[in-house]
Amino acid sequence: MNQFALLRQHPELIYFDSAATCQVPDVVLQAYTDYYQQHHANVHRASHQLGRAATTALETTRAKLAEFIGASAEQVALVASTTAALNGLAEQLPVQWQAGDEILLSSAEHHANILPWQRLAKQYELTLRYIPIDRETGELGEWRELLTPRTRVVSVTAASNITGTVFHLQPLLQAAKAKGAWTLVDAAQAAAHVPIDVHQLECDALVFSMHKLYSVNGCAVLYIRDALRDAMAPFWVGGGIVQRVSATEAELIDGIHKFEAGSPNTAAAVAAATAVDWLQQQHLQQQLASLRHQLVEELQQRAWLTVLPSGAQATPTISFYSDAFQAFDIAAWLDQHHIAVRAGHHCAQLLLQQWQLPAVVRISLGAYNTADQINRFLETLDAGWALFGSD
Ligand code: PMP
Repeated sequence: MNQFALLRQHPELIYFDSAATCQVPDVVLQAYTDYYQQHHANVHRASHQLGRAATTALETTRAKLAEFIGASAEQVALVASTTAALNGLAEQLPVQWQAGDEILLSSAEHHANILPWQRLAKQYELTLRYIPIDRETGELGEWRELLTPRTRVVSVTAASNITGTVFHLQPLLQAAKAKGAWTLVDAAQAAAHVPIDVHQLECDALVFSMHKLYSVNGCAVLYIRDALRDAMAPFWVGGGIVQRVSATEAELIDGIHKFEAGSPNTAAAVAAATAVDWLQQQHLQQQLASLRHQLVEELQQRAWLTVLPSGAQATPTISFYSDAFQAFDIAAWLDQHHIAVRAGHHCAQLLLQQWQLPAVVRISLGAYNTADQINRFLETLDAGWALFGSD
């Protein structure tokens, strides 16, 4: 708590919305401002010392973020966000689309991993298929029959942003590869909480935004396996990625840098590298697992609400609903008491539709949360029930 300027300014605040974005520790903000105060210049093209220093900063970050997921630097592009990366992948995957080709997603996808495929599907008359999520367990439902000879892409989230379930993706991705499909993983919710090893996962691409790992906005990791990297065209074209340009043609560079046309957000990259160092020093896994356990146990004792299932392994994200109250009313009540939770569909409407739920309340925990805060949250929830619920 002491390490977060925003939380020091608002000691009354209980921030339970880290799955949306994390608060940023001082060391990360410091790295961000230090970059602008001491090292700022544009990269690659600069022949002066500052430009070389900025280039080094960017490339050092790339190497660190690559190591974080078991990749090599030549496989990691730094892009603006998960949303940007998923849109780029959908547009540029090297597939000769034929009408009737299939894309396999899950019902737990964030809209960022649905809308780009819907647009593509409309353009080429493709079929989108969705792996259901088991209502009892929160795990991936049956997918074997959904993987067909027409499946060209499997793009799935590594963890649900609603239930917190960490999906066991390996068998699915292996089976998809065996069928010749491209395999993509949205690790936006998982990366802060579970170790990621891209080789073990057998994915062709994996993406996550660093603002969900205690860094600033504007930097996301896009891992691309060599074969896909070399076969895929850049998402954007422009400065920094050309060998030679004529009036009508451009010869582009090879390698991972072709995915980074234009001036990069080096400050956000530098902050991201610091955030990864910081995160690795915190050893949060046990602390957050125990807070999650406390919260779920307590919530399950309240008969007036239902906690959504979260599978065998879960991030510290928990959602619940109540037949007695609207989710938005619960969130508003908590907000009046300085407790920041989120209510709604959480940009994952398909899951709630599949489970026939209108909206849920989501609590997502982070480094700064404590058992005392959970107790205060529960007391506030109970006070609301006592005032408005019981009759
Ligand atoms: N996928 C998942 C699972 C997410 O939780 C989010 C963020 N809510 C995104 C994608 C989109 O990330 P961003 O807004 O950083 O592009």
